Amino acid sequence: FAINMSQLQLEDELGKGAYGTVRKVLHKPTNVAMAMKEIRLELDDSKLNAILMELDILHRAVAPEIVEFYGAFFIESCVYYCMEYMDAGSLDKLQAAGVPEDVLARITGAMVRGLKFLKDDLQIIHRDVKPTNVLVNRKGEIKLCDFGVSGQLEKSLAKTNIGCQSYMAPERIKGESQNNVGTYTVSSDVWSLGLSMIEMAIGRYPYPPETYANVFAQLTAIVHGDPPELPEDFSDDSRDFVARCLHKVPELRATYAELLEHPFLQADRGRSVDMPKWVIEALGFREKKLAEERRQKLLHDTSAV
Ligand code: ADP
Repeated sequence: FAINMSQLQLEDELGKGAYGTVRKVLHKPTNVAMAMKEIRLELDDSKLNAILMELDILHRAVAPEIVEFYGAFFIESCVYYCMEYMDAGSLDKLQAAGVPEDVLARITGAMVRGLKFLKDDLQIIHRDVKPTNVLVNRKGEIKLCDFGVSGQLEKSLAKTNIGCQSYMAPERIKGESQNNVGTYTVSSDVWSLGLSMIEMAIGRYPYPPETYANVFAQLTAIVHGDPPELPEDFSDDSRDFVARCLHKVPELRATYAELLEHPFLQADRGRSVDMPKWVIEALGFREKKLAEERRQKLLHDTSAV
């Protein structure tokens, strides 16, 4: 069946991304809670139709590690995209306390399986692997979203692509600076995976903006500096796993099949991890941190008066 706006009851805003707003909605005919992403695009109807047709492949992207796609439609120049509602949000909001190693292994396993499924079954390279594009629910399930399926959509969004946290592999940064778009291969996603793992482990982006004078200096560090590593209190296996993702030379990075056989993920398969408990704790930690930030801001604002 095709989803349209009249079937949806709008609820809370879930977040704002670079390209639009995500809202919780209720699909009235089925009583299913969904997340609806609104992407404003100044395009004519034929281009918007082309995007909807390209998005159709998402109906085949059905796997435990992929956020389910329910359908998309457009109204005027906005594309609305309906997907599975993930009630703990994105990983970036759960990592502030740092993700412990057993949970990190569980999350990484899901990411690798999801990425491998996209590539093997749908010939899709994700192209935007980062903690904000990994969604979590209170059951402790980990699922990928926001992967590049529509060339037309990608082209339309590229112009507005800003942001100072780059998860792009060195070869991609070099390629972009030479206006060379053909440098993207699946191993570029493996780099982004490794970088995301370090971010989860330490609770912040591994190339902190305060260390670099500007974005150019930060990108230079990614291209010319040594790759970052997991902190020393993580196991040798986990540190080796990340090192295999973060080779500067793309051909030397591990494949998904190799990563799945790595001792770091093998150990995960033989271990039980209470993911729902971790999700609750991580949400609680974030709630406390936000409350503290609000308190500090209030103090600051009152003292400024
Ligand atoms: P970005 O452009 O940074 O990737 P998005 O526009 O995809 O951000 O999403 C903005 C925010 O909305 C996310 O940070 C996330 O917290 C929330 N969100 C996105 N998709 C979902 C979903 N399916 N379920 C619940 N929350 C979501």
